[in-house]
Amino acid sequence: MYQTILNKLKKEGVKLLAVSKTQSASTIHHFYQKGQGSFGENKVQELLHKHEELPKDIEWHFIGHLQRNKVKHIVSFIHLIHAVDSLRLAQKIDHEAKKINKVVDILIQIRISSEISKFGWIYDDVCLQYEELLKLKNIRIVGFMGMATNTIEKGTIRNEFNQINKSFKDFQKRLNKSYFKELSIGMSSDYQLAVKEGATIVRIGSLIFGKRENQE
Ligand SMILES: *Cc1c(COP(=O)(O)O)cnc(C)c1O
Repeated sequence: MYQTILNKLKKEGVKLLAVSKTQSASTIHHFYQKGQGSFGENKVQELLHKHEELPKDIEWHFIGHLQRNKVKHIVSFIHLIHAVDSLRLAQKIDHEAKKINKVVDILIQIRISSEISKFGWIYDDVCLQYEELLKLKNIRIVGFMGMATNTIEKGTIRNEFNQINKSFKDFQKRLNKSYFKELSIGMSSDYQLAVKEGATIVRIGSLIFGKRENQE
């Protein structure tokens, strides 16, 4: 399955982020040896263990809801933080990055689902906080991330991806920076739709590794 997905995505120029949460270090290493270079985790402790144990050239992405008091543990090595869902979190990452003289790449999580359990900004609020965000010199906003509603209704998912893509393009014009180019949308169940709607990164777990035992 991995090769099939990878080949499809390569053709489209879309990056495959292997979501390795709950998977063992040895499973990750197996995929690393096949050439997979980037993995996504959603728990800080788990990520720290794996980062410690596995080859240092792995690109680690943090894809979960990140608590502000845990930012300091990951800033030194994290490749991309996907789910920056508030100005306070962005400020905290900037603050911790500054301490170690680093610029950390982040994605702003846009709330596209109507499910109340999902985090993220309303796009209008990103625009309202624009000036505040631009003050943060130790983060670089390289794109947007979103999670569609958990539904089998393809139309709903397509609309949500389409909506984030519009916001993404609008912000791209506003910011006018060449590094703002990533749209992280799509998971196992909806990545093909996401690719059609402009994804540049898809985050795929269960389709590569098999179903997780504790689904989160
Ligand atoms: C778990 C997770 C994924 C991957 O989910 P699958 O359905 O296993 O592909 C993608 N994005 C986020 C934010 C996740 O937490």
